[in-house]
Amino acid sequence: MTPDRNPHAGLPITDDDATIAAALEDVSIPTLMLSMVHMTGDPSIIRGELKPQGLFLNEVQGYMGEEDKAEVRRLALEVIRAYRDGGSVPADPPSPELIREMMSFLVCEDVPEEYVPMLLEEMELDGVDAREVDLSVGAEERAAFPVVVIGCGQSGLLAGIRLQEAGIPYTIIEKNAGVGGTWYENTYPGCRVDVGNHFYCYSFEPSDHWSQYFAQQPELARYFDDVMHRHGVDQHVRWETEVTSAVWDDGAGTWTVRVRAADGTEDALTARAVISAVGQLNRPSLPDIPGRDDFAGPAFHSAQWDHSVDLTGKRVALIGAGASGFQIAPAIAEEVEHLTVFQRTAQWMFPNPNYHEVVGPGVQWALRHLPFYGRWYRFLLFWPACDGGLAAARIDPAYDSSDGRAVSETNEFTRQMFTDWIVSQIGEDHPDLLAKVIPDYPATGKRTLQDNGSWLQTLTRADVDLVRTGIDHIEADAVVTEDGIRHEVDVIVFATGFQANRFLFPIEVVGRAGEVLAERWGDRPSAYLGITVPGFPNLFCMYGPGTNLAHGGSLIFHSECQMRYITGCLDLLLSSGATAMEPRQEVHDDYYRRVQEELKGLVWSHPSIQHSWFKNPDGDIHVLSPWRLVDYWTWTQRPDPEDFVVR
Ligand code: NAP
Repeated sequence: MTPDRNPHAGLPITDDDATIAAALEDVSIPTLMLSMVHMTGDPSIIRGELKPQGLFLNEVQGYMGEEDKAEVRRLALEVIRAYRDGGSVPADPPSPELIREMMSFLVCEDVPEEYVPMLLEEMELDGVDAREVDLSVGAEERAAFPVVVIGCGQSGLLAGIRLQEAGIPYTIIEKNAGVGGTWYENTYPGCRVDVGNHFYCYSFEPSDHWSQYFAQQPELARYFDDVMHRHGVDQHVRWETEVTSAVWDDGAGTWTVRVRAADGTEDALTARAVISAVGQLNRPSLPDIPGRDDFAGPAFHSAQWDHSVDLTGKRVALIGAGASGFQIAPAIAEEVEHLTVFQRTAQWMFPNPNYHEVVGPGVQWALRHLPFYGRWYRFLLFWPACDGGLAAARIDPAYDSSDGRAVSETNEFTRQMFTDWIVSQIGEDHPDLLAKVIPDYPATGKRTLQDNGSWLQTLTRADVDLVRTGIDHIEADAVVTEDGIRHEVDVIVFATGFQANRFLFPIEVVGRAGEVLAERWGDRPSAYLGITVPGFPNLFCMYGPGTNLAHGGSLIFHSECQMRYITGCLDLLLSSGATAMEPRQEVHDDYYRRVQEELKGLVWSHPSIQHSWFKNPDGDIHVLSPWRLVDYWTWTQRPDPEDFVVR
């Protein structure tokens, strides 16, 4: 490759025709058509009769018919052959107008102008990482600005990469022995991501290596480990060390961060800024069921899986069936003697036939060789998970939602679609089961899950029971439900979620006026843009309050937005020579008011949803973002100095 070759132009093609033809059998045809435009510079291929017919999340063939796909493959083989024989040199980059036309072609709808800059940045068609940090001050000022990052999951690792690029000294404190956060801790059977991996990965890292469309935990853990080493971030991490407190010294303009290592030794670090990257799904939540500690057999939380326990031939209780339980049940049902799933609330899910599919060799080849194929594929996954989901989540005030069935016409349509999928999987033979698995609250009202059939089919097994009756108590050898039935079991798995509303718990964070952050927040954590908090100077949150995404996107996308904003804040501090910045109280309060107002109009707030980790004990929501991704991306481009007290 020539040194200035665009990294997304792909490797030069040297394969023979038969190899290329075989690869094309596998690929996303609409994406292939866009790559053909890059190869030839000729847009006529996307202006004819051959085109995708529709869009749905994870439907990467655009519902094209077999004949049309075969015709595109035939044309593509000619184009690729000529491209190969000409030295694999892409045509001149498409004009901005053509790129927008290509976007709209791929997703079968007009992509509004306001989205184009965000999408272009995310896709990096020009080969430039626009989110790379470029500070305006010299090396000396940067070197005198040490930063502590708490946590080395996906957001903490990103913080490390960007601080490294910025030439800012940093230390990451990580409680685990390895990188990845949630992808390090959650080793339960069946654990995998449910955002397509060719989008759920850093925008600036290659994504041609995934072995499955929705990778399993070990592959994700490896990915973060590889990225960490490639960027040399590992040199800056203190493993198996917990932050116990962070105290702001207003006179010195520094944070004192106290840490405790696994062997009990304590230490204190001084930092000019602290970045919290502790995640939201970090501290397991165990239900307060009477007798929980009386159980005599092994019992553990899904995020603390005890691999020393052999489940073969055991009677297992799975208490909780949200996103984690959904994956655990199909993965262990075969192995155990009997599985009883205790599910308090039924879950909505949508069909995803690709959920457990491997990425075939043809797609891997295309990702590596076809110019910009991987970038367009990323966009194809991103767009249907972009802001359409938010519009669909809106409660229509004119719609009668009092029965908790739906919150709008669109939402009723979604209910029908999801219900059809559930019915198609359970069939007529299991009427009792069907009654238990259709939720009684609006579709998408909790985190929507995905199924390729494995969850619902698991429930139809003779050796699996789904229990929807509440749990009364636990005894030494049984889970006893409110109807008095004793479900005798040998092992209990609690897939009961996390203490998501307790941000930064259990770290004691003390701000400017001696205020303790956890006390300030109580059950109502909030931060300006989810990132900064009045009274807590130079504290920056990633995946902070109000930033979880229930309507789509990817948390990695959000982290990249947040980290760009944070580096902008650091630049502001450094270039102004100031020691402290915090958001103006009124700016924060106005933002909080707007967030709450928006959330109240969205399906997740609907009163028919009684149990949801999105809600605090009062039924209010402080973990979710109610914003369109394009708005959040715009607001986090750079900090507005007017929003802050900088001194
Ligand atoms: P979760 O979705 O909050 O599910 C917890 C389950 O435990 C629910 O069934 C809940 O019932 C039940 N539960 C909680 N407290 C209970 C109690 N006191 N009594 C009875 N049942 C109780 O937690 P999770 O499954 O760990 O998932 C949390 C989040 O992690 C997900 O929403 C997602 O964001 C992320 N996650 C993602 C993936 C993925 O990408 N594939 C996988 C796992 C997790 P109710 O529904 O009635 O509250």
